[in-house]
Amino acid sequence: AKGQGKGRQVGYTAELDQRTAEQSRLAADLRTSLGTDQLHLLYQPIVSMPGGELYGVEALARWNHPDRGPVSPGVFIPAAERTGLIVPLGAWILEEACRQGAAWLYELGDASPRTVTVNVSARQLREAGFAHEVDAVLRRTGLPAHVLTVEITETAVFDGGAALAELKAIAALGVNIALDDFGTGHSSLSLLRTCPADILKVDKSFVDDITEGGQHAVVTAALIQICDGLRLRAVAEGVETAEQAAELHRLGYRYAQGYHYARPLPAERIPAYRPPLTVA
Ligand code: C2E
Ligand code: CA
Ligand code: CA
Ligand code: CA
Repeated sequence: AKGQGKGRQVGYTAELDQRTAEQSRLAADLRTSLGTDQLHLLYQPIVSMPGGELYGVEALARWNHPDRGPVSPGVFIPAAERTGLIVPLGAWILEEACRQGAAWLYELGDASPRTVTVNVSARQLREAGFAHEVDAVLRRTGLPAHVLTVEITETAVFDGGAALAELKAIAALGVNIALDDFGTGHSSLSLLRTCPADILKVDKSFVDDITEGGQHAVVTAALIQICDGLRLRAVAEGVETAEQAAELHRLGYRYAQGYHYARPLPAERIPAYRPPLTVA
């Protein structure tokens, strides 16, 4: 049994090495993709309930590898974070999304998304002068600060005091701050006292539970109360069915995002977004 355990351990280490090597290869390819058309952004509608009208969008990165085809951001974003490549990649994502947001404002006026949300990783937030960079991008692109939402996960803020200071500087510009995947981390509630948040993204796992009678349904119900009390906007993530949407609306949720409304779309398809026939 002892020998067997050891064998497994060796196998496990080899597997880890293999995965690390794989990640380094991917990161090397990703480095050469910067500035090419292999990278682009999709935009997923964030809607208001019960009508399902467009409220804002979240920018989601896509990478089309020349040999492998599409690589999931769940794979290439962590690889970019590990290698530090997320800093130049994230800078490009931020600028591209702000440029698109400004273009919508110009083209669509009142019908343009009221907020353009960009995911920012812990590594970017820790970079000294990131708030300055955000300010510079807003000036270059002409996007008003109040139209931008910077979305971060709670681990990013607890990465250290530097991240929190940058976040406060970004908030001071008038940019909105959203906490992503809220409720899945270790310190969600205490974070609300220190972090200058405007929006909570309630994680899909809580949304999944509400119509399945899961244990988290009570948390989903409590989170909207907390948001109301603290004057935070709650966005329910990963809404896939009309039943979930109806239940969320009944609980008091006013904003949602998910396949029930729309998948992430190319920028040019955002103006044609219309609510599904069954709304809420
Ligand atoms: P996230 O920020 O939590 O983004 C939401 C993810 O859920 C997206 O996956 C989106 O396509 C997916 N999604 C939206 N609605 C539904 C639904 O109804 N059902 C299901 N099953 N999924 C839904 P995606 O685009 O594959 O991105 C995965 C993760 O990669 C993101 O999770 C985010 O953490 C990261 N990511 C993506 N783009 C960026 C980026 O530009 N910068 C950074 N730092 N991270 C990014
Ligand atoms: Ca997000
Ligand atoms: Ca999320
Ligand atoms: Ca997530």
